[in-house]
Amino acid sequence: MPLNMSLASKTLPIDVQEEIDCLYEFVPEVSQHFRIIEKIGEGTFSSVFRAKLKCHPQVEEQFALKHIIPTSHPTRIEGELRCLQQIGGCENVIGVELCIRNKDHVVIVMPYFAHDYFQDYIQEMTLSEVREYMRNLLIALRRVHQFDIIHRDVKPTNFLYNRTTKRFALVDFGLAHEAPVLKKIKQSSKTVQKDLNDTDELKKVLRDMGNIPSVSSLSQSVKKETPIKKETPLSKADPKSKPVLATKQYTPSPTLDSLAFTKRMKSPRRLLLSKRTLMIKDEHGLPTKTRPSTSSTKPGVGCTCQCFNQPMICRMCMARANQIAPRAGTPGFRSPEVLLKCPDQSTAVDIWSAGVIFLSLLSGRYPFFRAVDDVTALAQIATIMGSDPLKTAAKSFGKQFMCSPNPQPVDLRTLCHKLRSAPPRIGKHHSSKTLNKENFTRSWTNIPKSAFDLLHRLLDLNPGTRITAEEALEEAFFTECI
Ligand code: ADP
Ligand code: MG
Ligand code: ZN
Repeated sequence: MPLNMSLASKTLPIDVQEEIDCLYEFVPEVSQHFRIIEKIGEGTFSSVFRAKLKCHPQVEEQFALKHIIPTSHPTRIEGELRCLQQIGGCENVIGVELCIRNKDHVVIVMPYFAHDYFQDYIQEMTLSEVREYMRNLLIALRRVHQFDIIHRDVKPTNFLYNRTTKRFALVDFGLAHEAPVLKKIKQSSKTVQKDLNDTDELKKVLRDMGNIPSVSSLSQSVKKETPIKKETPLSKADPKSKPVLATKQYTPSPTLDSLAFTKRMKSPRRLLLSKRTLMIKDEHGLPTKTRPSTSSTKPGVGCTCQCFNQPMICRMCMARANQIAPRAGTPGFRSPEVLLKCPDQSTAVDIWSAGVIFLSLLSGRYPFFRAVDDVTALAQIATIMGSDPLKTAAKSFGKQFMCSPNPQPVDLRTLCHKLRSAPPRIGKHHSSKTLNKENFTRSWTNIPKSAFDLLHRLLDLNPGTRITAEEALEEAFFTECI
């Protein structure tokens, strides 16, 4: 074992070291070129590591290696790579350096972006810092939405912020996909698609993406200390050149390699994850089966079944087929149209999530909505925004929402001021050292009206009238002199 590997293993927990060793073994190119320093993230479909170049220890540059769970759907991986490659690298969207693949193991190599943790700074931010945070988030979303791509998982852990350098990076395109309306038009003009098995599919995907530089070209360019230039077929400056995400549908079968990986990884989480990814997928490669919800979401008004408007589900409704609509994302950040399973979702779902982040920042509470399921999430939204506005919004996208009792909308300004002045709930992370108390208090005693105007526009219950990222950047909150 090379010296640097054994050195690294001294400080890492056993399970993390086991995972790194597995990664080195299954993707030898990673161990040839990188020295993994630590694990920096673990999501549902991936593990992320911080690494340095092995053969050029003098190079300070660090990398984030995202190892995607081997049973992931190839179209998912393709989608994530395409987004990073075509959208990333500018306007606060993380870029990609290269992609390493061995059989069905895929490692996405990105520049490492040192960042702070949301829980650590949310209580310390001044209003002007919140403004800069929101401005930069909206710049990233404007960039993504120019390509008609829905990120789908906008939340603080996917929007990295470095308080020292004042830089931002939107990461994690694992759930991103094209806005469905556009996709339908494209699909109708498509020729017959043939099924391919996972490995063939992945080969093709990665061959098509051949313009991502290889590991050797990366080491060479780093050695010469010249910036790595990536030539993409679509000009980054031209938002009209839109990436086309694959839309093939099939149930993936585990290959021998992914099974071997799952066996080697003894952790129960791994096993669970590999099983989970083999569940039936919807058109976006996401699990679709959900329990029938008690919030009746029947389209149209005329309904003849026995349970309509009742706190029960009748046999007729039990037998109804589940409505298929994309619902991936994180419960507390899901928009009303996602929660109500509206099939025609747009980039507006990301704007709602940005609104939830803004609500967290203005109130100093994170997470703001702690929903365990979609019905609870809807109830929480109704509690804040009022049930009647939610009913009206639901109607606008062909859904019926019922709720008892009927909460009235809460004044967001009063709510945020109250929560801000209450003692912080997340005291553990709160350090008063870096806080200039006077400035801080002054900035929060009189939040401008423009902040709440923007908040209301982002948290518009109706996706059809919800503000876009581009429009939001023109709002008074960002343009007025303070
Ligand atoms: P997942 O799909 O598993 O959530 P992400 O892409 O969100 O994967 O990465 C998980 C975590 O890893 C992020 O929340 C972040 O903390 C860290 N991370 C991801 N990409 C980078 C990067 N380029 N630089 C630094 N940290 C990163
Ligand atoms: Mg993530
Ligand atoms: Zn019924």
